[in-house]
Formats: sequence, structure tokens, C-alpha cells
Amino acid sequence: MDNIIDGKAFAANLRAEVAAKVATLKSQHSIVPGLAVVLVGEDPASQVYVRNKGKQTVETGMQSFEHKLPDTTSQDELMSLIDTLNADDSVHGILVQLPLPKQIQEAAVINHISPEKDVDGFHLSNVGRLAIGEPGIVPCTPLGCIMMLRDALGDLSGMHAVVVGRSNIVGKPMASLLLQENCTVEITHSRTRNLQEECLRADILVAAVGRPEMIKGDWVKPGAAVIDVGINRIEAEDGKTRLVGDVEFSSAAKVAGKITPVPGGVGPMTIACLLHNTLQQACKINNVEVPA
Ligand code: NDP
Repeated sequence: MDNIIDGKAFAANLRAEVAAKVATLKSQHSIVPGLAVVLVGEDPASQVYVRNKGKQTVETGMQSFEHKLPDTTSQDELMSLIDTLNADDSVHGILVQLPLPKQIQEAAVINHISPEKDVDGFHLSNVGRLAIGEPGIVPCTPLGCIMMLRDALGDLSGMHAVVVGRSNIVGKPMASLLLQENCTVEITHSRTRNLQEECLRADILVAAVGRPEMIKGDWVKPGAAVIDVGINRIEAEDGKTRLVGDVEFSSAAKVAGKITPVPGGVGPMTIACLLHNTLQQACKINNVEVPA
């Protein structure tokens, strides 16, 4: 199918581009970008994700710092680690893996990270910058989506974009980015009336809901670009589990002009964009141009 957006290949290209720029930064300025990842507790999905991040960080020539803390860690202990990382000149990006254990206030921790090292783009300062269109750090998953959309469609100006989901980490920043691209943006959520009708209006449909295969082919306008952010693990008929998105791929792919699959669509772009953000911040903090 030639309408599939290959996120895996796109992410591999982006990582290769980042690696080339990291090599230039090293040889011209002796700067090695560093990414610190903090994991509190034993959540298996988070452990896999952190391992992948560390591996890809090293593969692009950056330094990876992993801090694994027990799930009994107190808020003060975590804050004190963040103080240390904020002050460490070899660290240009800090990522605290979410969710955090109950005794820790996520928002307080995220807002304790230096905004310049907040490579997830979740600090209030970066959230505010994105909302008013000022340069700042953009959250990785929506950044990956917008990169793929620009590549697939070119100029997005004037397109009607519908975002399904209004979370702070995907839906809202996605809507802000689409607005910056001069789309007419509609944000929908669990209280939206006639969701199918709203989706059918979309030239660009972004699904970030967390409900397996909720959006069917007859919710998609013929020719629309469909970006499926959802990652849902469901039990298949053979008893094994498999990953599906928030879009029913088999029916939607017959109607869409462009569509991201799950797996292999948005997912791989998230870590690639994290590495991209870390490189950008290493340059910014050291006051040097990002290599061409
Ligand atoms: P949240 O649970 O934080 O938000 C889900 C949003 O979907 C909410 O705004 C909710 O509305 C809306 N929603 C829920 N049910 C419906 C419904 N029936 N109709 C319309 N809207 C509905 O999820 P996230 O944004 O964090 O994640 C969304 C999906 O994306 C998940 O599958 C997650 O795993 C995946 N994800 C993938 C990433 C990646 O590719 N790397 C990164 C992050 C997330 P309301 O606000 O009204 O409750």
C-alpha cells in the first residue's frame, strides 16, 4: 500500500541525521550531548522504554545517564537528584519517566527540571511557549507527528485538522502545533457530540484516545491523512497479545490518503524526537549553532 507513512524508516533517518550532527558537534566544538533518564520503580513497560532510550542515545553518539531509583523514593530524594542533574554540565536533557509512584507529585517534579533541559517539553515554561507560539521545547510524540505530516503533505496551511483526545502530553500540544502550521484545528474528547461527524470533516485526523480501534474507516474522509498515536495491547484470537492503534487500520487504510500503522508509525518517532531535542538543547546551552 503506497499510502502508508513508514514511521520506522522516518525515525531511522532522523536518528541518522542526529548522529551525523552529534559527530560534527564533537569534532568542531568537543561537545558531547548528554541525556539523563530517571526511572523510579519497577514498571515493566517503563523499563523496556528506558532501555530502548539508553540504547538509541548511545547509538547516536550521545552520552546516556540512567538513574534507577526504588519505588519507595521520596519526593525530596527525587528533587535532590534533579538538582544535581540541573547543575551537571555534561547533561543537556533530563527525562523523568512517567508515571511516578503515588507518594510523588508529578507536576512538582517536572517543573523542578531546568526548562532548558526539559527535553520532554512538559515544563510549564515550555508548555506556555508552545501555547503562544514562542520557540521552546516541543513534546516528542506530537513533534514526531508534525514532522511526518509535513513530509507527507508539504504545506499544511488551511487544512481542517481534527485531534481526538485532549491530554497534556499529546492532544493539546498536537493541536498547538497544527495551529502553528496554519491548520483550522478542532479538538475533540469524550464529551464531544457526534464524534464520527467531526472526524469526517478532517483533512488531517489525529487519534490520541487510548481506545483500541475506535475510529473506523467510515469515520475517515476519503483522502484524509490519519495519524494514529494510540498504542493498545489487545488479546488476539490465538490467545497472544498484539498491538493496535486507536484507528481500525484495515478499514481506515482503504479510505485514507495517508495513514500511520501501529506498530511502526508514530511510536518509533517519539525516541527519535527525544534525541533531536537533546541535540538542540546541547547546542543552545553551549551557545553554538546546530550543525547543518
Ligand atoms: P489520555 O488517557 O491522557 O487521554 C485520552 C484522551 O482521549 C482524553 O482527552 C479523553 O477525553 C479522550 N477520550 C477517551 N475516550 C474517548 C472517547 N470514547 N471519545 C472521544 N475521546 C475520548 O491518553 P494519552 O493522550 O496519554 O494517550 C493516548 C494514546 O496514545 C494512548 O493509547 C497512549 O498509549 C498513546 N501514546 C503513544 C505515545 C507514542 O506513540 N510514543 C506517547 C503517548 C501516548 P477526556 O479528556 O474527555 O477524558
